[in-house]
Amino acid sequence: MSVSGKHVIVTGGGSGVGAACAALLAQKGATVTIFGRTEATLAAQSLPYQLCDVTDVGTVKSAFEAARKNAGPVDVVVANAGAAESMPFSKTTPDLLHDMLSVNLIGVANVWQAALADMKASGWGRMIAIASTAGLRGYPYVTAYCAAKHAVVGLTKSLAKELAKTGITVNAICPGFVETPMLERSIDNIMAKTGLGREEAENTLKADNPQGRFIQTDEIAEMACWLCSYGARSVNGQALSLSGGEL
Ligand code: NAP
Repeated sequence: MSVSGKHVIVTGGGSGVGAACAALLAQKGATVTIFGRTEATLAAQSLPYQLCDVTDVGTVKSAFEAARKNAGPVDVVVANAGAAESMPFSKTTPDLLHDMLSVNLIGVANVWQAALADMKASGWGRMIAIASTAGLRGYPYVTAYCAAKHAVVGLTKSLAKELAKTGITVNAICPGFVETPMLERSIDNIMAKTGLGREEAENTLKADNPQGRFIQTDEIAEMACWLCSYGARSVNGQALSLSGGEL
C-alpha cells in the first residue's frame, strides 16, 4: 500500500503547506483534489479543485460529493486548512476564539467525518491533520490559536483509538514556524507592532527552533506521504513534531 492510485483530499491546497502536500502526493501517483475558498489560488495549482469553506458542513458535504463524482471514493484526507491570529489574551474576544476553533478544529472534524464512510468501506484510510507545535506547547499572544491546535491533537488521539481496528490511521503533523504566506503575515505583524526590522522579526521566530531556521513546506509534504506508506501503518494517534528539536 502506498499513496499511488489513492484519491487524496487536501484542504487549503491553494497555498503554503497544503499546496506542497498536494503537489508531492500527486507526483507520487495520487489523484489529488484540493479544497479552499479562493478560486484563483486553487486554479493556480493545476490540480482538480472544489470551492469549500471547511467550517461549513453543508459546503463540505457538497465538495466531497463533487470530488467523489470526479475521482471516486476518498482514501486520504490532509486536513491542512487553518488560520492564525495573534492577540493579547486581554483582547481575545469570544468571536476570535470561535473563529480559531471553527477553522482549526471543527474544519478538521468536518472533513474527516465526510471521508469516514469511504475509508470504512475500503478498509483503508489515512486522516492527517496539519496541526502545529502550538498543539503541543504554549506561545504568548496566540492563546486562541494554541487552544484550537491543542484541541485538534486531542481529536486526533481520540479518533485514532476509535478507528484503530478499521484500517484507518489518524495522525497530526506538528510543524514549528514554516515559510509560507501565513508566516509572512506573522512577520509583517511583528514588524508593525514592535518596530523591529525584517531580519530581527524573523530571528525572534527562528529562535524557537534549535536549528535556528524556518521549516520548509516540502518537509511536511514528505511526512504526509510517509504517513500514507505501508511502513507507517502502525503510526496511529501521534502528534509528530517537525520542529528541529523544539519539542
Ligand atoms: P496559508 O498559506 O495561509 O494557508 C492556509 C490555507 O488554508 C489557505 O490556502 C486558505 O485558503 C485555507 N483556508 C483557510 N481558512 C479556510 C476555510 N475556512 N476553508 C477552507 N480553506 C481555508 O498558511 P500555511 O502556513 O500553509 O498553513 C497551513 C496549515 O499549517 C495551517 O493549519 C496552519 O495552522 C499550519 N501551520 C502553519 C505554520 C506556519 O508557520 N506557517 C506552522 C505550524 C502549522 P483560502 O483562504 O483561499 O480558503
